[in-house]
Amino acid sequence: MDAHESLIELIGNTPLVRLRTPGAEGAAVYAKLEYLSAGGSVKDRIGLRMIEEAEKSGALRPGGTVVEATSGNTGAGLAMVAAAKGYRTVVVLPDKSSAEKIATLRAYGAEVVVRPGGLPAHDPEHILNVAARLAESTPGGWFAGQYGNPANPAAHYLTTGPEIWRQTEGRVTHLVSCVGTGGTISGTGRFLKEASGGAVRVIGADPASSVYSGGDGRPYFVEAAGRFRHPETVEDVWPDSYQQDVVDEILPIADRDALLTIRRLAREEGLLVGGSAGTAVSAALRVAAGLGPRELVVVILPDSGRQYLSKYFNDEWMLRQGFLDGDPGAPRVGDAVPAELRERPLPYLHHHRTVEQALDALRARQREGAEPVLPVGPAPVAPGRQPTSVELLGAVGLEQLTAALARGTAAAGDPIADHLAPPLPRFGTGEPAGAALAELAEQGGRTAVVVHDGHGVGLIGTAELRALVDQALSPSPLG
Ligand code: PMP
Repeated sequence: MDAHESLIELIGNTPLVRLRTPGAEGAAVYAKLEYLSAGGSVKDRIGLRMIEEAEKSGALRPGGTVVEATSGNTGAGLAMVAAAKGYRTVVVLPDKSSAEKIATLRAYGAEVVVRPGGLPAHDPEHILNVAARLAESTPGGWFAGQYGNPANPAAHYLTTGPEIWRQTEGRVTHLVSCVGTGGTISGTGRFLKEASGGAVRVIGADPASSVYSGGDGRPYFVEAAGRFRHPETVEDVWPDSYQQDVVDEILPIADRDALLTIRRLAREEGLLVGGSAGTAVSAALRVAAGLGPRELVVVILPDSGRQYLSKYFNDEWMLRQGFLDGDPGAPRVGDAVPAELRERPLPYLHHHRTVEQALDALRARQREGAEPVLPVGPAPVAPGRQPTSVELLGAVGLEQLTAALARGTAAAGDPIADHLAPPLPRFGTGEPAGAALAELAEQGGRTAVVVHDGHGVGLIGTAELRALVDQALSPSPLG
């Protein structure tokens, strides 16, 4: 029969398909479609290998429990293999993971523990620390630990690399891959370098603010790739699974480029892939444009766009984060903060400022005629760094803090982090001003944060929004 005994046989062995997008003058780009693996992502390979190695070493025994901290795909790979082999799975996820990923894990029967993302590595509630503790306290528990587990890069050295070499008949000259744990690029890249006698060039594709490509580590919106660094992280130790000696170059790719690229790939090529595939393809197209027809670029597309239908393929979400420009024929929120002003620092307060300092800043705002409220976020790791919209975890207002002081629930020297009101509403630069005005009124607010490319670029008040709307309605002075 033409059939398989187990779904485990359907992990990996993914096809290569040529991208049509690059011009004929550059090198051909072939995409490796990891979403066609049995569990839907590049991480099936390491799920299988890590479990099989643990079985061999005796770390995982029949009836045991697989525990992992992951943004989702490794959890799905592990949960799928564990289900097929009869183990229990517990996955600890950061809360920025998409709802689809969480639902997938639950569907595989995994227990899901959600913890706040964006914590410094030393925080006991950081997902890695939570998972390690859970593995220890669970009888028969085994912590997979993809960041330090040699089976992660080994899975790619033994499967992804050889597949690409075989599929291209040794003609591959450039490999482009995202770097999360670094397992994919390290294992695949090392194999291809060895097979080609060092000729294959290995290029990392990295979200622009990720530390791997020299960014300051602030949050970004492409899930599961790159490396975030919390402003309070003292020492940022990169994972063993990322073997930097294999990587020749690493290109920073803006979230906007990555996300607009996957929307184009879906519409123009029928390839529905996730955000990190957009980061990788953006980098691959850049690399290919500088090469000739004899060179051949292989780019790894780690997972499917179906996991991100509520985010990257949802116009409302994209507009709110300021990744879409909206309808230029109607007044837009961003018209109040024109491009040349978007580099100005956002007025906001660092969360360790005291109530007294905040009151001074809020009174100054009042003197300027603005509503005396300000968003609150972490101190910047680099001067001038605009906070990502997701970092603005709260707000403070003059009335609110004054009342707390009067009641005695706040003291002048307290950090404002202890007295936060809910975050200010946010609107993307491309959103229609009229709809934003209505939504702001509905929420009972008078000030909102304007978001462009995921970053706060200004504050906007009801009066400014109304002016934008009125301006568009009034007849032009030329009649
Ligand atoms: N993209 C996606 C969608 C992923 O799930 C991962 C794995 N976290 C990566 C990219 C990065 O792969 P690696 O961890 O092997 O560097």
